Amino acid sequence: MDRKRYSKPELLAPAGDLLRLKTAVDYGADAVYLGGKQYSLRSRASNFTHEDIREACAYANARNVHVHVTVNEIPHDRDLEGLEDYLCFLQEAGVTAIIAASPAVMRLAKRVAPKLEVHASTQCSILNSAAANAMINLTGCDRVVLARECSLDEIRKIQKATDRDIEVFIHGGMCVNFSGRCTLSNRMTLRDANRGGCAQSCRWNYEVCAKDQPISTGDSFFTLGSRDLCAARYLPQLMEIGVKSLKIEGRMKTEYYVASVVSALRHMIDELYETQEPLSEERMNYHLREVLAAQNREVWNGFLNNPDGVDSIIYHANSDADVSHAFLGTAKSCSGGMLEIETRNPIDPGDRIEVLEPGKTNRVFECRFLRDEEGNELAVSRVPMRRIFMPVPFEVAPGALLRKAAV
Ligand code: SF4
Repeated sequence: MDRKRYSKPELLAPAGDLLRLKTAVDYGADAVYLGGKQYSLRSRASNFTHEDIREACAYANARNVHVHVTVNEIPHDRDLEGLEDYLCFLQEAGVTAIIAASPAVMRLAKRVAPKLEVHASTQCSILNSAAANAMINLTGCDRVVLARECSLDEIRKIQKATDRDIEVFIHGGMCVNFSGRCTLSNRMTLRDANRGGCAQSCRWNYEVCAKDQPISTGDSFFTLGSRDLCAARYLPQLMEIGVKSLKIEGRMKTEYYVASVVSALRHMIDELYETQEPLSEERMNYHLREVLAAQNREVWNGFLNNPDGVDSIIYHANSDADVSHAFLGTAKSCSGGMLEIETRNPIDPGDRIEVLEPGKTNRVFECRFLRDEEGNELAVSRVPMRRIFMPVPFEVAPGALLRKAAV
């Protein structure tokens, strides 16, 4: 049988809490990743209790979605206490895989919790097939999450030279340091980036001086921060190579961001897989607009195949990049042609509103009027987290997300 041109990769989405986990699952993720209260980087990202992890696994596994748990801090000896019990708990709770950066943690997991898959984190900075195979031989890991700094050619070579799954970042924030190895946050805030405390100091605005003399950087402020990654343009090539998993970064992002990016990439993967044909420029542009609809920072294509070189990674402190489709609110109920929503951003009568619902093509309608809970007509809605009503020409499921449609 002929091998298909495009394989179907796993779409792996971030989950900062149970709400965002369920959102990612409902909007089409094949797997989600989360952090527990211990042993995980991003310790501020609303990490999950043991009870939350059990609930996450029950919800995801019932829908054939895998749960991956980050156990990716770089541990000192004192950090290893209790780790064995934690790994056994994850296995018993129904977690599919751990994501680890330390070979010691990977080897321990293979010994005490053999049903868990072990994924070597991007923090291992694996950029070549020799490094990938060395890590596999050392730890027995089942998957290698490549460093974001790999090009498409390098990914292709590594995929050919190893017999394990390869995972690649497709979207989200970047570390300006090499795949997360950074002490800037430690210096600026005494919060250890390699043990979960990164304060994203690289994204702060700085004035640059040399011996108290200001240096002009072109912007009135200077930031070390990188633009966010948007590699969706290279999705066809990644599916041709046959990478196993495409990861979205962003455990600290909102439920709207998660729904929007997951839904857009789900549709793009499915279209490529079902047609087995390259996307026309028009379809590619359509998908890229959808992927970026919730994006509020400048983006770049990453290191996959960047004709503009690394200069294009620089984030401009004065960037006015903004979301093209503001998040308006969440559907709470819909009956008799009236939609009840909990608001997030201002809505005016006459606005064109786009409805995102799991598994459906987005639909657009025009808001003809607004009412409050007492039935009074509103000239505008400006208050967040308020219940308002508006007529809608089709059924909308509770939990659907509403955003401003593109003009
Ligand atoms: S400060 Fe910036 S570069 Fe350093 S770990 Fe945090 S996000 Fe990465």
